[in-house]
Amino acid sequence: MSNSTHRPDIFAGPDEEAMNSRLNWLRAGVLGANDGIVSIAAMLVGVAAATTDLKVIIITAVAGIVAGALSMGVGEFVSVSAQRDAEEALLDRERVWQRARPQWELEQLVRLNMDTGMSEATARAAAQEQMAKDPLDIHARMHLGIDPDELTNPWAAGVASIIAFTVGGLTPLLTTTLPPASLRIPLTFVLVIIALAITGYISAMVAKSPRIKAVLRNMAGGTVAMVITYGIGTLVGTAV
Ligand SMILES: [Zn+2]
Repeated sequence: MSNSTHRPDIFAGPDEEAMNSRLNWLRAGVLGANDGIVSIAAMLVGVAAATTDLKVIIITAVAGIVAGALSMGVGEFVSVSAQRDAEEALLDRERVWQRARPQWELEQLVRLNMDTGMSEATARAAAQEQMAKDPLDIHARMHLGIDPDELTNPWAAGVASIIAFTVGGLTPLLTTTLPPASLRIPLTFVLVIIALAITGYISAMVAKSPRIKAVLRNMAGGTVAMVITYGIGTLVGTAV
């Protein structure tokens, strides 16, 4: 949640802040979808290389999507929870300090302001204004580097990853089950590479990094994964 009143930032107005937070979710979603596409596609290309039995392919896909989505969701939940616990513990400690030693905290803020290039007089005047407004908030930002309005919710992060992974994994599930047997593997390669180009493009857009490079890297990574499991699936399929 962002509170526009205490952030007169000339570069990021309230609208842009809300968008940044949406972009964070977009990035998490794209990563989850990417993971679902690559891992399930690689797995299914391997299985489809060994068998044309639809029942086997579907069971493998469903098991893989459920296992991957849950493991990704739990992992995301655990890591965001740990981060959030640490941030909340820091905020609690800061809250205690504000009560126990307000003068010391003021001096700390004066130092932090001076580090940004202010003279001591300006830094002190600024610190007094900052402390009068919202001491915990300004200390969280200046001293802990935490935005208390932007703590991530572990449940939302976990559920978003589960949904994103499942949606990603559905692409190769459809391409390895719907077409006739001879088209399954080539069609999966083509559609997965297109899907990876899209997720690579979106993630580069979100990160404001070079798009062509991200798209090519993402397509190459997924292709390598599929080629390797296709090779292994062929070997195992002929050996068994
Ligand atoms: Zn402090």
